[in-house]
Amino acid sequence: MTQVVLVGCGVVGATLAYELSQHDNLSITILDKQSPAQGATGAALGIAMGVISHKVKGRNWRLREASLRRYTTLLPELEAAVGRPVIHNKQGILSLCFDEAELPRWRSLQEIRQRQGWPLEIWSPQHISDACPHIAADQAVAGIYSPQDLQIAPKSLTYILLEAAQRRGVQVQTNALVTGFEHEGDRISAVQTQEGRYPVDWVILTAGLGSELLTQQLGVRLPLVPVLGQGIRVKVESPLGNTDFQPVINGNDIHLVPLTNGEYGIAATVEFPTAGETTPLPQEAALAAVWNGAMAYCPALEAAEVLETWYGLRPRPQGQAAPVIQYLEGYVNAVLATGHYRNGVLLAPATAQRVMSLMFDSE
Ligand SMILES: Cc1cc2nc3c(=O)[nH]c(=O)nc-3n(C[C@H](O)[C@H](O)[C@H](O)COP(=O)(O)OP(=O)(O)OC[C@H]3O[C@@H](n4cnc5c(N)ncnc54)[C@H](O)[C@@H]3O)c2cc1C
Repeated sequence: MTQVVLVGCGVVGATLAYELSQHDNLSITILDKQSPAQGATGAALGIAMGVISHKVKGRNWRLREASLRRYTTLLPELEAAVGRPVIHNKQGILSLCFDEAELPRWRSLQEIRQRQGWPLEIWSPQHISDACPHIAADQAVAGIYSPQDLQIAPKSLTYILLEAAQRRGVQVQTNALVTGFEHEGDRISAVQTQEGRYPVDWVILTAGLGSELLTQQLGVRLPLVPVLGQGIRVKVESPLGNTDFQPVINGNDIHLVPLTNGEYGIAATVEFPTAGETTPLPQEAALAAVWNGAMAYCPALEAAEVLETWYGLRPRPQGQAAPVIQYLEGYVNAVLATGHYRNGVLLAPATAQRVMSLMFDSE
């Protein structure tokens, strides 16, 4: 049996563990220093901005498209495997356009997507108002509606991926802080934790922000900048707008995400470390700007009860594009799958495909 160890039980590691579990002759262990989905994954709302993103070609679009395609089969597959639903919203994403000057760019995107086989609709303010009466449509010049983009609750997804992976024999070890590695030349032979050692044929680093420290121990520099994101969870008395049509709404990069039981998530700030800071601290003013921005396009939020605010840190690679999916420089059996910055939930399935092709295509 080939021993595979994954370090990091966020959405990326969990997806990879599940996808790898379908290969024969692999003995797979996934380690995390804490419980699953406590890192960036636990802070995300899981919006999968594929078709509606302005990425139209190259690696970034290919990853997005591959993920969207895999999600259409992965979600039902997981639900069948564990017998309960992965919480997700298939009613699409509506992006509000407030500036006439941006419309040509959206029209051009719509044409490109049509050629690529993905529908994208451009709605008038009246259409926005009819479909989503909770939105102050008079402020918008148009709404761009993407029916095939989706939102997936990241914790629900991660737990179910791990459960399905465990049913196929994957070992999930929590409270297992990886402290180092043993290697012989360009081959890693074992992963060390505080409790013991795991002999390996392959190591995959899916440790999000923790990947920087791990690669340092192997003599490789992988600078990752923590970019803070804050959000707000609110409750309203009855669902906003039409109860049977509850898409994710995006206005000026502020997302309004329908959750369950009349709750909504509003996110997220994008806060970089300031000079002298290694890790940014949440700024009240940044959160207030998100909250005010959401109320500006959805005035009904003024009556909402704020249940909680939260924040998390996104792993943003420095000096290279997100995400980082490649062999760890200098090693033949270590692969990096990290640095997913703002799109780890969206890109997890495509990341797993890339990693598996790095592992198996050269065989
Ligand atoms: C506020 C916010 C909103 C977001 N919204 C979205 C969104 O809508 N859509 C989207 O696609 N993405 C979103 N993201 C980004 C997304 O959350 C990340 O890209 C994604 O979660 C990265 O997943 P990961 O598995 O690589 O990392 P993580 O979830 O951070 O998991 C890494 C894991 O590795 C473990 N680990 C680290 N070091 C070690 C070690 N030495 N030993 C053992 N374990 C270790 C950690 O404990 C952690 O569990 C958002 C992020 C934030 C903060």
